[in-house]
Amino acid sequence: MSSNPVAETVASLMPRAKAELAELVAFKSVADFDQYPKSESEGAANWVADALRAEGFTDVALLDTPDGTQSVYGYLPGPEGAKTVLLYAHYDVQPPLDEAAWATPPFELTERDGRWYGRGSADCKGGVIMHLLALRALKANGGIPVSVKVIAEGSEEMGTGGLERYAEEHPELLKADTVVIGDAGNFRVGLPTVTTTLRGMTLVRVQVDTLEGNLHSGQFGGAAPDALAALVRALDSLRAEDGSTTVDGLDGDSAWDGLQYDEEQFRKDAKVLDGVELIGSGTVADRIWARPAVTVLGIDCPPVVGATPSVQAGARALISLRVPPGVDAVEATKLLQAHLEAHTPWGARVHTEQIGQGQAFRADTTSPAYQAMADAMAVAYPGQEMQYAGQGGSIPLCNTLAALYPQAEILLIGLSEPEAQIHAVNESVSPEELERLSVAEALFLRNYAAG
Ligand SMILES: [Zn+2]
Repeated sequence: MSSNPVAETVASLMPRAKAELAELVAFKSVADFDQYPKSESEGAANWVADALRAEGFTDVALLDTPDGTQSVYGYLPGPEGAKTVLLYAHYDVQPPLDEAAWATPPFELTERDGRWYGRGSADCKGGVIMHLLALRALKANGGIPVSVKVIAEGSEEMGTGGLERYAEEHPELLKADTVVIGDAGNFRVGLPTVTTTLRGMTLVRVQVDTLEGNLHSGQFGGAAPDALAALVRALDSLRAEDGSTTVDGLDGDSAWDGLQYDEEQFRKDAKVLDGVELIGSGTVADRIWARPAVTVLGIDCPPVVGATPSVQAGARALISLRVPPGVDAVEATKLLQAHLEAHTPWGARVHTEQIGQGQAFRADTTSPAYQAMADAMAVAYPGQEMQYAGQGGSIPLCNTLAALYPQAEILLIGLSEPEAQIHAVNESVSPEELERLSVAEALFLRNYAAG
């Protein structure tokens, strides 16, 4: 990599990148303003805005999004007729959780064993720095051949949807030919990976009623229809013997054809207790990236403490169904509702309600943008071929952008490899990953402009 001028420039910029990341990490920019002062988030937003202005961005603005947070926007016009690329990151962070459990203070970037520790160092303040490094490296080596829009969100970790709604209300603002979301991560350190699919999700609440009121379990139990028992049976019908998700009419056999997830590694990553089996069938990648997965998120019934000897008249549950790419979340929701209604026993009254829904996402990996990224990754990670991984969760903004700009390709890369321990205590970033991915992003922009 050292023979590449862009790589040489990025290498020379790493000390500055570290100092900047330290400044950015020092802001306690948790977008929960009951727990953290809003001024911390404002400080981080202004830091990003100033950094964009210093790079020559025009129209730099702090956008007030409907959830009461701010997204930072900037535009850097490229040569006449150039394509436009949108670079995304977020400057808000997860709360540090148990601060005492951190080996070093969460809001002080600290180097240890070759990694830089601090909340947001990988997720996603490092992503902000990655975008800056890529642009600076191109500037120092012939210029930036595309028009660039940057958007740095202020409430990604809260899931309050401020930027999504703002983008829908201002449909021209983030319009681009290609989007790079700098908030994902390599499958492991040193293995260049693009996340190509995200599962969608649907949330359904189910209410089961059997009696006008609770009854004494001694006097009536045995014949009186128990709503909680009916609910448990309906919920259990959502799983096969091996734990696979079974929703009537919903395909549960799809296979993942990209990178595979080693089963032992998965057990370790998921911290599965010794002797406990994984659930489902197929490879781990099939199960978490290509197939539906149901999870009961909560059940309303009497808690153990204070429970009385009663047969329950009513009970309800909240169910999430992760929907793989290729399956319409609206259709999956209807199937889940119909399944619950059909599988609730004893003629119990059952009422289902959909309370949230997001579509799955699948990138077009045959697009010119993917080829440009694969070529860039091959230079940034010599000897490695770019891998395609899925992600079990969803990124709502991805869907918003995909719906607003159906022609735009979306690439998900970033610094959140497993060792980064994002969202946990002792989050860190690998400076080598930051360096290589910045090189990759710079070369991607160059390749994409030329393609
Ligand atoms: Zn993130």
